[in-house]
Amino acid sequence: MATIEEPPWLRLVKAPVIIVNAAGETLVAANEGARRILALPSRLPLPASLVLLIGEEAVEALEASTRDKREFRIVATCRTRGGFRALCLDGIACDEGFAVTLGHPVPDERAWLESLEEVAAGLPIGLEIYDRDFRPLLCNEVSDHFFDYPDVHMDHHDDWWGLAFPDEGDRRHAFLEWHERIAEARADQGRSRSAEWKVRCADGLDRNFEFRFRFVGDLYTVVFWDVTERRRLEEEWREYACTDVLTGLCNRRHFFEQGEVMRRNTDLSHEALSLLMIDIDHFKAINDQHGHAVGDHVLRVVAERCSKALRLGDLLARIGGEEFSVLLPSTGTREAVTIAGRLNRALADYPIECGAVAVDVRISVGGATRTHEGEPLESLLDRADRALYAAKSNGRDRVEFSG
Ligand code: GH3
Ligand code: MG
Ligand code: MG
Repeated sequence: MATIEEPPWLRLVKAPVIIVNAAGETLVAANEGARRILALPSRLPLPASLVLLIGEEAVEALEASTRDKREFRIVATCRTRGGFRALCLDGIACDEGFAVTLGHPVPDERAWLESLEEVAAGLPIGLEIYDRDFRPLLCNEVSDHFFDYPDVHMDHHDDWWGLAFPDEGDRRHAFLEWHERIAEARADQGRSRSAEWKVRCADGLDRNFEFRFRFVGDLYTVVFWDVTERRRLEEEWREYACTDVLTGLCNRRHFFEQGEVMRRNTDLSHEALSLLMIDIDHFKAINDQHGHAVGDHVLRVVAERCSKALRLGDLLARIGGEEFSVLLPSTGTREAVTIAGRLNRALADYPIECGAVAVDVRISVGGATRTHEGEPLESLLDRADRALYAAKSNGRDRVEFSG
């Protein structure tokens, strides 16, 4: 290998530059920037064979370019110690061979945009990019699928709102939220902001979307995905978790959650609160005599009749096998006794029919009213339970109240 000295000017050049021999196969010298880009070993003795440093393919390209030329510019894939790197090698002949400036390859803008569009088209989520005036630069296929409204040409982001939010109130609300979010996104470009809206789509259906907004310099970008199904399932599960499957009433868990809310509200409003515990009399005998299916039907009808005898705002739940409870907001003892009597009669007045059988169903009711603000729900339940026990002991089919 010929011994060629590193030219003194090389250190003064900030851009990454290497000196290669005239044949383009030997590295003669490299300045600091070039050493970094090519991940050269710090104590690399020079000159050195380029094949070991940037790989065969890049060396072949170099050799071909240096042949009979004084200048060249090529893009080559270099296999460096730090991995593969596509580099623009910009060479000019010098005393030592060639001075080659290393740069990032600048792709042809048109080709680059086409690739970007292709990538965007394949994304499973919506992507839109707007210029600084919110005029669309790119909308991918998912975006077109949902928001390419028939017979409408949208040439500004503002045009979307009227189509996506037919209700003026919803539109104003969403628009204000969007303004807030994009102001935040503009101020802090490092993070995206999100919003979730139900919007009218191109096919006329309303769907829930999660949107993420972000500014990249002056470019405004939005990505979004359909969360309609997820929200529907969540709602279904929430309802499922709160509902008693047999009767459709709220279940024990939900009753206690809601009961606690009601208790707090009555504390705030300084109003009365009463509770009724309902238990079907001799229900086991109904099951034994007519079968479990009839028992289930009885439970459903009891729930239905009790619901009808109550007021809007009263909270009725099935809290056990054949046990129900009702919370009566803004209700003192006198009124609660009246309501309990109404429930009792709703069952006693006429039998429950199930196919060919008519079942005489009676209930016992125990009630209690809060004696003081701050009395916990448990204490109210406990007193109503004891009253129910008294109703059972005193002959059933009756109402007893905690004194
Ligand atoms: P009492 O008058 O003292 O309340 O007597 P009871 O027979 O109503 O009370 P007991 O607690 O002895 O029996 C309740 C029965 O309710 C026992 C159980 O098999 C039945 N049961 C509980 N859950 C269901 C249900 O979902 N469907 C049906 N068909 N029966 C149920
Ligand atoms: Mg019972
Ligand atoms: Mg019972």
